[in-house]
Amino acid sequence: MKRISKDKVIYTFSPSHEPAEKVHPGEFILFETEDAFGGQVKGEETPPDKLDWSRVDGATGPVYIEGAEKGDTLVVYILDIKLQDRGAIAVIPGYGGLSHLDFNPKAKVVRIDRSFIYFGDLRIPQKPMIGTIGVAPEEGEIPTGNPGRHGGNMDVSELGVGTRLYLPVFTRGALLALGDLHAVQADGELCVSAIETPGEVLVKVDLIKGKQPAWPILETLDSFQVIAAGKDLDEASKNAAEAGVKALMKSRGISFEEAYMLGSLVLELKINQVVDPLLGVRAKLPKELVKIDDFLE
Ligand code: CA
Repeated sequence: MKRISKDKVIYTFSPSHEPAEKVHPGEFILFETEDAFGGQVKGEETPPDKLDWSRVDGATGPVYIEGAEKGDTLVVYILDIKLQDRGAIAVIPGYGGLSHLDFNPKAKVVRIDRSFIYFGDLRIPQKPMIGTIGVAPEEGEIPTGNPGRHGGNMDVSELGVGTRLYLPVFTRGALLALGDLHAVQADGELCVSAIETPGEVLVKVDLIKGKQPAWPILETLDSFQVIAAGKDLDEASKNAAEAGVKALMKSRGISFEEAYMLGSLVLELKINQVVDPLLGVRAKLPKELVKIDDFLE
């Protein structure tokens, strides 16, 4: 198993980054991660509007996967997520789904145990998830705070232990990086942050050669989900739904019109987040109707 220290942090996904480590398909990798605030929110007195933004939204990596080439799919098995016992959340004027309202900056530090987070006198079941996980684009660089076809800051509440993520590979070695763990986050991530905490993520990686999805695909126990992004929720919904309907056409051998109708009955559009530089929507299909190959071209 390869361990990637959280000192190996990137703030952009880019083919020009030096790999932190090289692994082979089938290998296990343990990523240590800092929280999305870069560890800057230490207590309720921390002024969250004074954060050093150059240290926010880091991802640990990147890891070079031997044999990965443009046109392939990187499969990431999310095997375990360990959280620290404290997390932080903050609201910052001008940010989040209610950025049009007037409010004050405020931070909150919460206790996390094996099962719950403690928000004031409320106990909320924890549901650990990975906010940011992605690969390098073919050229240029994409800030780690953005979601896109390469993955990135997708903030999908269901991207937790036991799931698999299928990422399109754009560059030799794929250059996988991840971070931004949340102890719990609801769909939408309304206030711009969730329960942000450092931790460790154990994954195994594998490759599917010569074909890839248009957008990252999440596989859960009972679903496949197209994770799309767009400049607004309309565009993100269209991107997610189009890939979902195409998968239905392929899996059922039916016309666009038939698959479009079927989509109304079985394809669920869910909001990932409404707070990042691009907004995120996922199209969720039951496993009875599609398999991973239906999303790959
Ligand atoms: Ca995030």
